[in-house]
Amino acid sequence: MKRLHSNVALFSAALLLLLTAGCKAAPPAPSEPAQPAPQPVVVAPEPTPAAAPAIDPAQASAPGLDHITGADVMKLTEQFLAAAPKRYIGSPGHAAAEKFIRDQFAPEVARGNFVDDSFTANTPIGPFTMHNLLVKFPSSTPVKKDGIIVFASHYETNYPLKDINFVGANDGACTSALLIAIGKYLRNHPPQGYSVWLLFDDGEEAVANPPYRQDQWSDANTLYGTRHIAAKWSGDGTLEHIKAFLVADMIGWKELKIDREGNSTPWLEDLLARAASDTGHSRYLAATGLPIDDDHKPFKQRGVPVLDVIDYEYGTPTDSEAFHHTEKDTIDKLSAASLQADADIFLDLIKLIDQR
Ligand code: ZN
Repeated sequence: MKRLHSNVALFSAALLLLLTAGCKAAPPAPSEPAQPAPQPVVVAPEPTPAAAPAIDPAQASAPGLDHITGADVMKLTEQFLAAAPKRYIGSPGHAAAEKFIRDQFAPEVARGNFVDDSFTANTPIGPFTMHNLLVKFPSSTPVKKDGIIVFASHYETNYPLKDINFVGANDGACTSALLIAIGKYLRNHPPQGYSVWLLFDDGEEAVANPPYRQDQWSDANTLYGTRHIAAKWSGDGTLEHIKAFLVADMIGWKELKIDREGNSTPWLEDLLARAASDTGHSRYLAATGLPIDDDHKPFKQRGVPVLDVIDYEYGTPTDSEAFHHTEKDTIDKLSAASLQADADIFLDLIKLIDQR
């Protein structure tokens, strides 16, 4: 994804100048950086070593996951990365990632609730076959509601990063693991309100030959999977049943601080804040955030309420993007505590959207 910062930051800087210029009573203006300074990071209290349970693989991968723990999501992230460390389109790792996801949902495959939405994407470096993987958890009686909540994460890694050891632990892997964990939970606790569909979308990242450059991102060369399925669902009438399209992206970092993202629908941002409060995780939310281009965009453009749950900052105090799209995006940057917060917040969000 890409943050759309320049206009907003410039506007804030200009506004500050405007507000302070000629106002004699104003206190000295704080120096305003061109881009927002890294948020002070509130580190969640680390569990003591004794409180951090050794991960029991049988528990973590048990088909009947009864509740979601951060350790479960971390274990699934590890397993996903072991099976498919590099997942760029067209690679064996990409096929391994698809297989890993499909294998997690054998009961849904058997029921016909697993859909492989394959399509050909015409990219600047030629056509590629891409696969959105969709898992449907229908609303259960007696509280059946007509409507769908879609929860999405991209699972591939960047093609332009294919020649370096980029695994996207935070960028694609941990949120795919989060969706898998939520799916296992929904298998045992079928939705009591709206149906919930999990969308493992493909082709979120820009497609270009290496080396990676930020300017490879453009409207026409990103979000291939979500643009494809938004158009498809618009054509077949599915779109009008979607009550909310939720995206999870880059929310596994130890120093998690979820943005109040500027392209998301305000009532869903409000529900996110309430879900964080309900579950005791408000410290993981930032008060502000800038608009970001991400998988919610094709749905927002078609009038669907959208929410991008994302923490764009991912780096060091001196370089807030130091780990983003680099070899440093590895599993040691993640924490079970952050993934626990994500799982709790998303399950509560589903409930809050149902109640709305
Ligand atoms: Zn990325």
